[in-house]
Amino acid sequence: MSVRAKKHLGQHFLKDELIAQQIADSLTETGYKNVLEIGPGMGVLTKYLLKKPLITHVIEIDTESVEYLQAHYLNLANRIISEDFLKIDLTEFFGEEQVAIIGNFPYNISTQIVFKTLENRHQIPEFSGMFQKEVAQRIAEKEGSKVYGILSVLTQAFYDVEYLFTVPPTVFNPPPKVDSGVIRLIRKENYTLPVNEKLFFRVVKTAFQQRRKTLRNSLKTMNLSDNLREDSIFGKRPEQLSVQEFISLTSKIEKDAV
Ligand code: SAH
Repeated sequence: MSVRAKKHLGQHFLKDELIAQQIADSLTETGYKNVLEIGPGMGVLTKYLLKKPLITHVIEIDTESVEYLQAHYLNLANRIISEDFLKIDLTEFFGEEQVAIIGNFPYNISTQIVFKTLENRHQIPEFSGMFQKEVAQRIAEKEGSKVYGILSVLTQAFYDVEYLFTVPPTVFNPPPKVDSGVIRLIRKENYTLPVNEKLFFRVVKTAFQQRRKTLRNSLKTMNLSDNLREDSIFGKRPEQLSVQEFISLTSKIEKDAV
């Protein structure tokens, strides 16, 4: 018996063992002993994680998959969390301990998984796995790229991102419509910002909401002084700004007295 793929849960089961192993091996296994796999499905990736000197936990929203895992992976025992990753409080399961995140992720909630990781970054030293290629690229690309955006800047402010490899639709059942990409995020040593974090998030989001416009135009709603708006950085478009420049822009805005 295997699990019937459910579209609304973003279920595309990986058939290729070598790719599953490569994803599991993308973990550096340094600085943590727990790993949490999001969306294990029938456990194609899980079985390689279980071979590692880590404590493997999985979280799966689909009860049919959970029953399958309980029956086939006896050594996962009580480390199967039958819940929605987006709704759990990590400290409830891991206390204050560090936990790496891994998965062939459900693509319908990719961005939300990344945002939840950023919110919980004090507890997540590493994050690796598969997204639809376009999202994987978006997270990894630098300024100047067409796909550089909110997700790139916010992720790279706290993590070093590496795009590892591309995976074709043919290795999944059922095959998705798009290519997939595997990435790895390693938390920066210093993962706090020298500026107000909420303001940083707001500046980045507001700037990219109108990515074709210069910051002078897109940040109009932020009520900045004319003096600050004369600064040459405001003549740029958001995709031209590095993460560092977004931080210094936020710092200037923070100090601005209207
Ligand atoms: N890792 C498996 C399955 C990938 S499909 C494989 O590679 O074959 C994505 C999996 O994520 C599915 O099993 C789906 O049920 C699960 N999933 C979807 N939304 C979820 C959520 N919010 N929390 C936890 N798991 C979720």
